Amino acid sequence: YLPVIYGITPTYSRLAQKADLTRLSQTLMHVKNFHWVVIEDSTEKTKLVANLLKESNLKYTHLNIKTHRTKHSTVMDINICLFKTSLYNTSWYCASGVEQRNLALDWLKGYLQKSEDTRGVVYFMDDDNTYSLKVFDEMRKVKKVGVWPVGIVGGMRVEMPLVSDGKVSGFNAWWKPFRPFPIDMAGFAINATLFLEHPEAKFSRKVQSGFQESEILKYFATKEDLEPLADNCTKVYVWHTRTQKPSILNPKKLKRPIIPDDH
Ligand code: UDP
Ligand code: MN
Repeated sequence: YLPVIYGITPTYSRLAQKADLTRLSQTLMHVKNFHWVVIEDSTEKTKLVANLLKESNLKYTHLNIKTHRTKHSTVMDINICLFKTSLYNTSWYCASGVEQRNLALDWLKGYLQKSEDTRGVVYFMDDDNTYSLKVFDEMRKVKKVGVWPVGIVGGMRVEMPLVSDGKVSGFNAWWKPFRPFPIDMAGFAINATLFLEHPEAKFSRKVQSGFQESEILKYFATKEDLEPLADNCTKVYVWHTRTQKPSILNPKKLKRPIIPDDH
């Protein structure tokens, strides 16, 4: 028996989007029993993503929802975000993918309710990370919530849960170590059936940056419940790589670029 992995990936239009999604989809082609839930941050589904999904031969669900940004929303800088949150006591846009992941969770609950078999694992997968096939083998062992190290994130070579006697005893994190779960989105997976037991579980914009992971995990687990995977959290099977923003020469002169239509 191989539990289904529901991979939830928000994505948005940018120069490297097709490159990132191509690499990710071609990783996923090697994963058995995988259902890819891709949510575009857009008012309409794009041809680029629709075609890429169709051609991938993956089992997928294509959704879209546009992030509702306030007029200050383009400010992505963490410190400015924090500053505004505390100063005005309001929820400014900080995190990416909140509405998209929540839409995917709503879809998942509806889908599982109609399914005979609600077993599976939910993994939140950003579109520019690097995933070893081994991380998927690990997450199929999850009973409630499984955790493992993530490479190149939070100012560290590896951010990871600390394990003693087969239990998570703490976390080795440098960035905001006071987070309830100082762990990246790529570093855990949750039993899918639990989302039916906790239908209220979702991400929130009302938390400061870096707290999305803690926000969703709080519904399902305490530190003591976490199941350390990847050889007691000694192996790195996923990396928080980030694609550099490309700079294109003379973008304004290229009004009618001679490039394939969906780039
Ligand atoms: N994302 C999105 N809308 C945005 C920015 C990001 O849907 O406006 C998606 C992005 O495609 C990725 C996830 O949200 O799958 C996390 O974003 P990103 O990789 O930029 O975050 P970071 O690497 O900085 O943590
Ligand atoms: Mn990223």
